[in-house]
Order: sequence, then structure tokens, then C-alpha cells
Amino acid sequence: MHDAPTANASPLPLRRCGRSGLWLPVVTLGLWQNFGESTAFDAQRALVLRAVELGVTHLDLANNYGPPPGAAELTMGRLLAGDLRSRRDELVITTKAGYRQWPGPYGEHGSRKYLLASLDQSLRRLGLDHVDVFYSHRFDASTPLEETIGALGAAVASGRARAVGVSSYSAARTAQALDVARRLGVTLTVAQPAYSMLNRWIERPDPTADGRSLLDVAAQGGLGVAAFSPLAQGMLTDRYLTGVPADSRAARGGPLRASYLSEENVAHVRALNAVALSRGQSLAQLAIAWALRDPRVTTVVLGARTSAQLEENLAALDGPPLTESELEAIDADAVD
Ligand code: NDP
Repeated sequence: MHDAPTANASPLPLRRCGRSGLWLPVVTLGLWQNFGESTAFDAQRALVLRAVELGVTHLDLANNYGPPPGAAELTMGRLLAGDLRSRRDELVITTKAGYRQWPGPYGEHGSRKYLLASLDQSLRRLGLDHVDVFYSHRFDASTPLEETIGALGAAVASGRARAVGVSSYSAARTAQALDVARRLGVTLTVAQPAYSMLNRWIERPDPTADGRSLLDVAAQGGLGVAAFSPLAQGMLTDRYLTGVPADSRAARGGPLRASYLSEENVAHVRALNAVALSRGQSLAQLAIAWALRDPRVTTVVLGARTSAQLEENLAALDGPPLTESELEAIDADAVD
């Protein structure tokens, strides 16, 4: 029997990450956007400190978050050396490697050479001797999975990471990664896939994984699920209901699926907004409550540009449970 840590251990509800001893707050702050050189350090500092104060102690990074790549880790490193100096062990700091980080053949993908060199660079930027979770950021068909998973195992064995995981691996690739890890004696702790009301791929049976979904594979393999972009990059908020606001990610030329702004999708989003309003929540709050309705989802990894956005998002946790009829209305509007 595994009991949750006592309620007063965290201002936020905690969920156990798979079969590990790592309990995570149900909301995680990601530093992908809004932590580059174009955002003032004071704004970044205010957001991270407010998050930690509110119990968002799981902070999700990657080598390439910025821009430029590395900038988000430098910000986090500055905070860990300053305001958060005495609080390092209260935090779960993640990073990843997989996308292009430096020129040449050894600056991306899944080789042992790249993954461990990138982790060393990340640790230098963060000013840490270890991260809590190190991820393979994407599957790499040109490297044997044994090498990629072996490198993750080496990160743990050498003390540079406390736990490891895989991000954006399909259900079948995740199942293979679990098999390889078992053979190599490596423990995978967490999978990090995209998941939102507009992107439900992790629920779908994968014919190449014996008909199992990623959620099934993760649950059977003892992996926690850190679901990223639960707000569909801002689309599942009130931002785009009546156009594209000037200060939004879309207007700034940031990454937002082009199809999200289609008339058809905006109509869907408006219908989802009506469900949210009918239960006294904002659309962002509904999106978060919905992603967390499945206990196999350990935490949602969301982004925020301001403390006000983050506070609104955390208030999702105070809402009523989703009813059958609300879930049916959302399913009727499913677009992915
Ligand atoms: P979200 O889906 O949570 O979108 C966040 C954006 O939504 C914000 O930047 C903001 O955009 C808008 N927003 C947030 N809250 C509100 C609110 N209450 N009201 C109105 N608008 C709001 O996630 P992201 O796409 O930012 O990704 C989150 C994290 O997931 C990343 O930081 C990263 O850690 C992780 N991730 C991992 C990936 C992987 O490959 N493993 C890939 C992508 C993300 P605006 O600026 O327009 O206000």
C-alpha cells in the first residue's frame, strides 16, 4: 500500500509518478516559451518564484528552451544560485536532449555522445550537479534504442540524473523503450507526451503496440505521464475566441499549430468554452481539469506568460469534478 505524502506536504495535490517514489504536483511549469532573451529577467524571476510559492515545484526544461537555446536553463541557473539557493532539494528540475543544440552530427538526436554531452552542458548552465529527471526528447530511428536508453541509464549511474524518461515517443516506441530498459537494468520513470482536448493521441489504441494506447503502455510499464501543452499552446484559453490578441503567442510568431486557428477549430473551441462557462470555469481551467481527470496522468506541464495566468490555471483544481454529460459534450466536440 502506498500512501500519498501528507496533505500539508504540498499546497497542491500530488500524484505518484508511475511506480516510482517520486510524487509530483499535478501542475508543472514549463519553461519552453517566455524564458528566452526577449523576456526581461525580472518577469521570468517573478513567474518562477510565484509558481514555487504556490506549490508548483516541478519545473520542466530542455537544453533548447530559449531562444536562444540554453537561455531558459541559464535563467533557472541564476534563480537556483540566487532566490532559490536554499531550496534546490524542494524542487524537481528536469531537462531533455534530442533536438538540435549545436552544429554537426553530434548536436542532436539520441546517441550516447550527444545525450551525455548535452546533459553536461545543461548542468553547467543550471549550476547543478544533477537534474531530477533527464529525458530523451524524441525518438531517434538512426540510433539503436539500446544506446539511447543505455545513455539515460549512464546519466543515473553517474549521479547526473535522479530519474530518466522519454518524451514524444509513440505507444509502440515507449513499449520498446521499456523492454530495452528492463534488459539493461535501467528504470524509466516518466513519459512526456502532448495531451489536450485538441490533441488526444495518447488515448488512442496503437495497432503497433498490440492495440494499446500510450496511457495503457505507461500504466502497465510503471511510467508516470507528464502531459505537456494541456492548453494546446494557448488555444484552449479565452485568448483566441474572438481573434488573435496582439500579445498572444500566435501574434508574436511563436509556435502554434496553424490548423488551430482555422474557422472550424475556433468554432470547436467556442463550444468547449460554453461547457467551461456552464460549470463556472474559464476554458483554461476546464482544459486542465479535463487533462487531469485520468489518474494515469501524473501532472500537466503547462506554460504561462504571467503570474495571473498561472494563478487562474491553478484555480482549476478548486472546480467541481467533471460530470458525465460534460464529458460527453467535450467528446462530441473532439477534433483530434
Ligand atoms: P500550454 O498549452 O500550457 O500553453 C501555454 C500558453 O497558453 C501560455 O504561454 C499563454 O500564451 C497561454 N496561457 C496560459 N495560461 C493562460 C490563461 N490562464 N489565460 C490565457 N492564456 C493562457 O503549454 P506550452 O505549449 O507553453 O507548453 C508547456 C510546457 O510543456 C513547455 O514549457 C515545456 O516545458 C513542455 N513542452 C514539452 C515538449 C516536448 O517535446 N517534451 C514540447 C512542448 C512543450 P500567451 O503567451 O499567448 O499568453
